[in-house]
Amino acid sequence: MPFISTRGAEMVSAPEAIVRGIAPDGGLYAPVSLPRLEKKDFEALAKMDYASRAAHTLALLLDGFTEEELLPMAKSAYSRFDDSAIAPVKELGDSRFVLELFHGPTLAFKDMALQFLPWLMTASARKQGEQREIAILTATSGDTGKAALEGFRDVPGTSVTVFYPQGGVSAVQEKQMVTSQGKNVHVCAVRGNFDDAQTGVKTLFGDPDFSAKMNALGKTLSSANSINLGRLAPQVAYYLSACAVLLDEGKIDWETGVNVCVPTGNFGNILAGWYAKRMGAPIKKLICASNRNDVLTDFIRTGVYDRVRPFHKTISPSMDILISSNLERFLLELAQGDTAQVNTWMGELKEKGRYEITDTQKALLNEAFYGGFADDEATKQTIARLWNDEHCLTDPHTGVAMDVAEQYRHETGDRETPLLIVSTASPYKFAADVAEAIEIKVEGDAFAAAQALENATGVKAPKAVLALKDMPVLHTRVCDKDKMGEAVLAGFRD
Ligand SMILES: *Cc1c(COP(=O)(O)O)cnc(C)c1O
Repeated sequence: MPFISTRGAEMVSAPEAIVRGIAPDGGLYAPVSLPRLEKKDFEALAKMDYASRAAHTLALLLDGFTEEELLPMAKSAYSRFDDSAIAPVKELGDSRFVLELFHGPTLAFKDMALQFLPWLMTASARKQGEQREIAILTATSGDTGKAALEGFRDVPGTSVTVFYPQGGVSAVQEKQMVTSQGKNVHVCAVRGNFDDAQTGVKTLFGDPDFSAKMNALGKTLSSANSINLGRLAPQVAYYLSACAVLLDEGKIDWETGVNVCVPTGNFGNILAGWYAKRMGAPIKKLICASNRNDVLTDFIRTGVYDRVRPFHKTISPSMDILISSNLERFLLELAQGDTAQVNTWMGELKEKGRYEITDTQKALLNEAFYGGFADDEATKQTIARLWNDEHCLTDPHTGVAMDVAEQYRHETGDRETPLLIVSTASPYKFAADVAEAIEIKVEGDAFAAAQALENATGVKAPKAVLALKDMPVLHTRVCDKDKMGEAVLAGFRD
């Protein structure tokens, strides 16, 4: 399947799209068409283990890769997960199911793709005849950074440099990053906020002087953030996998299907759900759940995307975002492949901070998507209710999804269609807020909170969180926001 930039007609192969990360015209690479699966294909998927499902899905999606070639990559990518099902589906009452995506080494759903991306990246570079080292630069507001550091750690032919806002990530997230091991990993705090770090990275990508310096060192730049096709493709696999499992166990049927609720920030995870639906997965509504940064809720309800609004810091920080970059791929479908239309919308977003779709396009959007949001108070209440009534311990991002899923059932009266809620992080990654929500007393830091949460609930804390407390800090570099290029180069000299 070839890929096209959302902002122009240029068509490229999957390996080229993965190495580049973003199209030269600033667009994202989107599939020209999608393969179609039938009921019997889901029956076949159900019989495979998770790595085989992933390899099968990626072979369908990405031209230039065979299933035989992808299978060992998938096996390695998912070898460090703490649940043999990799992405297990758990049942709650009332026709509700939870798809757990946090069993990877960094305890958030980013591992599902970032444990796979290094394999896709190095294979793609080989296919493209790229001899230089692939130097990954990433700005993070928390979860992506650590997942990229773990994914690319000691992968030959690559290096990774992560920038995070000093004081702008949670204690656990920071400790995860600054204790990162590996000969090719670099971490630097930026004196500034996440936007400064993100802008700094984007500036480096467009800086010919910096590229020349990297080239002289035998390196070429690439990106591990969620606009890279190599992150999107592995995410499609878990939606197909979950549907296959639910069908196989008779929990859902082919005709009725299942509604899927996804806690959303950059629109990457839920977009993979949309592609799975287009590929024939029996997904009915996609429920887009936001926190107080409800720009997507408004878009789905009014057809107007308006980022000119206050930015809220919430207890679900990985969803604190006002520019959902992956939405651009869905806009291409709303515009029926008209890249000039997408270009216009993106221009308006940049210049005026808003754009509006037509009534017909809005009808199409609403056929597939429902949007809702939950603020911190509602999220905490939902976390408490789920723990007290159903013995289900939930992180704040998943709490948002649980709350919005309930709103959907209440508002639409659709209580019959089974509901799959996507769970994106371990509650222990955000232990302090979860402990507060369920009224457990904590004295001390985030690690004390994790210990208290385990003692009070009996739900085992992942070893990765508790071990973090005593791990040595290996990265102490801090830089100004206009000195990030020098920090990258200094990292290579160490
Ligand atoms: C990144 C992240 C999200 C948001 O996912 P998008 O693909 O950006 O929509 C939700 N929850 C957690 C825990 C995350 O790390």
